[in-house]
Amino acid sequence: MTTNKDFAYWQRLATDLQIEGRAFIDGQYVAAASGKTFPCISPIDGRVLTQVAECDAADVDAAVAAARRSFESGEWAGLNPRQRKKVMTRFAGLLRQNMDELAVLETLDAGKPIGDTTSVDVPGAAYCVEWFGEAIDKVGGEVVPADHHLVGLVTREPIGVVACVVPWNFPILMAAWKFAPALAAGNSVILKPSEKSPLTAIRVAQLALEAGIPAGVFNIVPGAGNTGRLLALHMDVDCIAFTGSTAVGKQIMQCAGQSNLKRAWLELGGKSPNIILPDCPDLDRAAATAAGAIFYNMGEMCTAGSRLLVHRSIKDAFVAKVLEQAAKWVPGHPLDPNTGMGAIVDHIQLDRVLGYVEAGRSESKLLTGGSRLETIKGGYYLEPTVFEVEAHHKIAREEIFGPVLSVITFDDVDEAIKIANDSDYGLAAAVWTSNLTTAHDVSRKLRAGTVWVNCYDEGGDMNFPFGGYKQSGNGRDKSLHALEKYTELKSTLVRLR
Ligand code: NAD
Repeated sequence: MTTNKDFAYWQRLATDLQIEGRAFIDGQYVAAASGKTFPCISPIDGRVLTQVAECDAADVDAAVAAARRSFESGEWAGLNPRQRKKVMTRFAGLLRQNMDELAVLETLDAGKPIGDTTSVDVPGAAYCVEWFGEAIDKVGGEVVPADHHLVGLVTREPIGVVACVVPWNFPILMAAWKFAPALAAGNSVILKPSEKSPLTAIRVAQLALEAGIPAGVFNIVPGAGNTGRLLALHMDVDCIAFTGSTAVGKQIMQCAGQSNLKRAWLELGGKSPNIILPDCPDLDRAAATAAGAIFYNMGEMCTAGSRLLVHRSIKDAFVAKVLEQAAKWVPGHPLDPNTGMGAIVDHIQLDRVLGYVEAGRSESKLLTGGSRLETIKGGYYLEPTVFEVEAHHKIAREEIFGPVLSVITFDDVDEAIKIANDSDYGLAAAVWTSNLTTAHDVSRKLRAGTVWVNCYDEGGDMNFPFGGYKQSGNGRDKSLHALEKYTELKSTLVRLR
């Protein structure tokens, strides 16, 4: 994607930007009580963008107290849903008005191409806030068929204090998928962004306040894993909504069990299969889509189509097309609107991905890529990489979260389904076929929260619930189903006589 503003415009904006790194608690920017900070480094060139508050127990306690006070006051939770909608709509408008600034922040912080942050991340977050705002005055409860002497109501109420802990791959968007439904439902929220990409969250809190979300209802506590852990263990947090790795998701659930049994909602990792059957309707489009499914966002996608399953009869021809497509994903300067592939988020993730490339070199067959690039001095860039693998190889089983594709060959559709489902994960899957019956048959058999037929990554639409089977998590983001996570169901029985 490109924008109508040029590279020089975005570079100028990046230079002029005033970057806020403090926490946002009870309607104000504050330093961590300890005074501790951590450097926020841009993966574009390795430079320090700013120092960010490192929140610990004192800050988490202050944020939880502010959230609790604001929730109990009813100044947000008790508003007529129509009024909440008005504020959420204003909030979405402010996100759009500040689009360029937010997009540059996201690009500097996470290394994502500016063409993506201006077309997907920031507009997607604004759309999400608007969507849940618009929905909230239209969802009602139920009147249940009870005995004649009773009136039975089933209503949804906000849970209370909701903590959101999010990753770095789509920082503002993943955050919005959580805070938007949680706020719309009337909760008070504490958001902990990833330590690798905290900047847009910090800025967004001020826009929420400006839109009319009362002080204390939306708080930001930057910090590393320990800050998230403190929230997961906190006795006065009612719900924790987490997006991140499966390993940390398991710890979050344990913390919930160890403390107050807070609701724990988990959106976790994936190792999604993209199955190309011999009657694929358009091999060229399928190849371009397969490359996009793994190289978009530098492969830092929970839904990445990281396992490409190709039928033996078309394997050579199809892989040749995929390699042609891979060559188009050349890393460039993330602030250049013509760049399709940006920087890997930091040196830790770069080393992790390179570790998998090494594992692939020893066990599988490298078809292209595999090396670090010096696209910009001091930055973290990687070639788009494709391996031919056996389904049991390490790189075909573990989530890499980088631009590394594993091609697996199969001989018939049952074998493809078996390989596809032989994973701890179950986030997404795709199948390409011209046969409607095969499409439905295979879709039904794939154990995944989202199945695409003859496409991949379609569905920016908020109406589709998003989440995983198996160790890809529980609960769903997006859609009206997401509201279920942030509300308690109440049965009220009124005796008439
Ligand atoms: P991560 O699990 O390392 O971190 C996620 C968040 O949890 C960060 O804010 C981090 O600081 C925090 N954290 C780390 N340790 C913690 C602990 N012990 N207790 C509480 N919080 C802790 O994940 P990541 O590297 O930031 O993100 C990549 C992962 O996210 C991948 O596995 C990816 O698949 C997943 N992801 C899933 C979805 C989805 O919707 N299913 C979307 C995006 C990313």
